[in-house]
Amino acid sequence: MIDKRESRAWAEIDLDALAHNYHALRDWIQASSAPEAPVALLGMVKANAYGHGAPAIGRKLQELGADMLAVACLAEAVELREAGITIPILCLGQTPVEQAEDLLAYDVTQTVGDLEIGRALSAAAVAAGKELAIHIKLDTGMGRLGFIWREGSQAGTVEQVRALCALPGLRAEGLFTHFAAADEDVDYTELQGRRLREARAVLEEAGIHLKHYHCASSAAVLNYPWTHMDMVRPGIAMYGHYPDPASEIRGEPSLRPVMALKARVTSVRTMPIGTKLGYGCTATLKKESRVAVLSIGYADGLPRSLSNKLEVKLHGIPCPILGRICMDMCMADVTAVPQTKVGDAAVVYDGDLNRIAELAGTITDELVCRVTARVPRVYRENGTRIG
Ligand SMILES: *Cc1c(COP(=O)(O)O)cnc(C)c1O
Repeated sequence: MIDKRESRAWAEIDLDALAHNYHALRDWIQASSAPEAPVALLGMVKANAYGHGAPAIGRKLQELGADMLAVACLAEAVELREAGITIPILCLGQTPVEQAEDLLAYDVTQTVGDLEIGRALSAAAVAAGKELAIHIKLDTGMGRLGFIWREGSQAGTVEQVRALCALPGLRAEGLFTHFAAADEDVDYTELQGRRLREARAVLEEAGIHLKHYHCASSAAVLNYPWTHMDMVRPGIAMYGHYPDPASEIRGEPSLRPVMALKARVTSVRTMPIGTKLGYGCTATLKKESRVAVLSIGYADGLPRSLSNKLEVKLHGIPCPILGRICMDMCMADVTAVPQTKVGDAAVVYDGDLNRIAELAGTITDELVCRVTARVPRVYRENGTRIG
């Protein structure tokens, strides 16, 4: 009997692979940076845990011993709290000040990269009679969010951060920055690292000592042990994908993909040479072929840009997608797999997604994030399916 969740298209999420990656990254960090104290691990679970399902991934990371989780917005933090997450949660995005009450009620640590917003949050916390934990964001070169730290502009930033830290109702616990090019530009990454270290030193001289200093996303964790500081923030690597294919070639640490996207075969027909397939008639059969229809399309998150490019697997054998990927379906040439029948499960993707991402003109992160809500996430743990 087919599980109801697996009647159409579904994503298999392997929590054992997540545990493997968690331990592999922990071991790699301890071995490569040889820190005096253990490096804390913040698990990145924004965007529904990169499409893997935030409640289940958050609970598993908490159980594994993650020190902290991070999300993009308050709603994601609330979802995690309601799923039983009790470890600290850092909200990376700007929360509207009107929602400060919820930050306090759900015990969410808020990123602050602007003094005016800090003042408004301080006032809200004081009014509520509570203290809001914050991490201070520095813009060392990403050009996106945070107090700007550049050569020549340090003094003003120090004054702003001092003023922020002196506000009542706020408890500053961290200072961090984000790299713009940790997967491609060594010099720029080192420049950003120097700026963060300088900021830390200058602020410490000014009497500001924080519990956590952090900057390393996956590419930095793998490429630059000096970025580990006392906390790391891996995202895509925890889900089993190398941000930089070279890391895989170097072979350490070994990661296992957590998600496999699958779909049912809903029809198999033999079609004559010359048959045109799909919208726009972009594929024409060059010989008589067996054509299967799979119940997955771009409304499930399968990029339409993979039309006539992706190969899915049936019974382990690669089968090319023929014609344009439709909203809810796509077609595959299964001539090479004569045993294919209605009800078979096709592997749309699993394993290394870097090549598929390249075919789709995107990155692995987008492939996993874009799997839509219509696709049930089915979890496996200790080798078996869980509810
Ligand atoms: C998303 C994100 C990360 C994780 O990035 P990966 O490349 O997926 O490891 C780390 N830090 C910040 C601020 C992020 O937004």
